[in-house]
Amino acid sequence: MLTPILALALSSPPPPPVDPQTAAIALVQDARLSADVQKLASFGTRHTLSDTASPDRGIGAARDWIKAELEKCAGAETPRLTVAFEEFDAPKSLRLPAGGRIVNVLATLPGSMKEAADRRYYIVAHYDSRNGDPMDAAGDAPGANDNASGTAVVLECARVLSTLGLDSAVVFLLTAGEEQGLIGASYHAAQAAGRGEKIMGVLNNDIVGDPSDPYNATNRFYAVRIFSEGIPRNPSAAALASIRLSASESDSPSRQLARFVESVGAQHENILPNTLLVFRPDRFLRGGDHLAFNDNGFAAVRFTVLREHFDRQHVNVETKDTLPYGDLPRYTDSSYMARIAKLNLATIMNLANAPRPPADVRIVSKDLGNETLLRWTASPEPDVIGYEVLYRPTSETAWPGELVRDAGRATELTLKISKDDHFFGVRAYDRKGYRSPVAFAGTAKE
Ligand SMILES: [Zn+2]
Repeated sequence: MLTPILALALSSPPPPPVDPQTAAIALVQDARLSADVQKLASFGTRHTLSDTASPDRGIGAARDWIKAELEKCAGAETPRLTVAFEEFDAPKSLRLPAGGRIVNVLATLPGSMKEAADRRYYIVAHYDSRNGDPMDAAGDAPGANDNASGTAVVLECARVLSTLGLDSAVVFLLTAGEEQGLIGASYHAAQAAGRGEKIMGVLNNDIVGDPSDPYNATNRFYAVRIFSEGIPRNPSAAALASIRLSASESDSPSRQLARFVESVGAQHENILPNTLLVFRPDRFLRGGDHLAFNDNGFAAVRFTVLREHFDRQHVNVETKDTLPYGDLPRYTDSSYMARIAKLNLATIMNLANAPRPPADVRIVSKDLGNETLLRWTASPEPDVIGYEVLYRPTSETAWPGELVRDAGRATELTLKISKDDHFFGVRAYDRKGYRSPVAFAGTAKE
């Protein structure tokens, strides 16, 4: 007869829990998303240097409204969500020639598990806007797709998630100064890094409102591009040498996060948008707030529509040669934004309830041989009941679902396949079946 411990090790890991996310997803309301986009566009402009005194025009009125919407989610009796402005004086820069007061809006939902509450997962969007002239602080800049859509997605996620209890903390961050050079996000990420905060994953929603095809007016793409960096912008010589040795240029924490989002999407087919992973930090000539988090050492990805209309982005609202220009609410699609909100929700629920990825995952490579010995450090979280080793040929870009070996509670595993020809990673799973993102295996002597 098996001893209980051995029996546990031989049982297969629980399947991923899909039902709680299905229930949360059902709470997303298309009508709230379209109403939010209309409201944000109604402030005329949300340019970072626009009016802050008017009650109904400019960035000041917009941020007051965003803060009030988040406060509605906080709960009157025992507020679970804390809402605040994050204000600072930004120094002079190219698109901020006299410097300026920047105000982010921040809401934090604390984690409910003591051992996991230090981990923070972010849903981010910039709420500022611009027109054809990045310095025009007075002219109309409705910024419906860029980026009232992302702001609406963050607000809708806050409405739904603030009613749930998640193991880890979730932060809803609406930034200003993005169009002037990622100023709000850079400040926030640098401050958080300085405080040693454990930001484990950032989902940046920027241009997530208009799924239409620029070449065919009746065609819509219910899909989303997910951009992720491979190699950090300024790696140390030692970090670069390590990336080269293990050939981990496509296995950064941001890439694992992107693959994680894709795997969540696959659990809810026909509800969530199709995911297209793009292995690049961002589109050419453009950037976004996720890069500010990357540059401060945090895993972060960007969600963006599949095809962009450049006659509706960073342009003045006008008619030229009988053609309409402008980033207007009528081009956004509430059912598409709802899908994006649902993808954020399902991903964050998985991330914030799952264990942290195992630490010190390494291939033990002190001897030549045709087998692979992997080791890692046990998770400190009490609900972890095992680990899975994933592997793939070095020429594959995704972790194939079938190349998974259960290690049970052990913190090492030997596979009868060559370490020279495969990439390896390890993830932790808990008793409910939540799986962490994959931690990529480097190499070590023991
Ligand atoms: Zn944008």
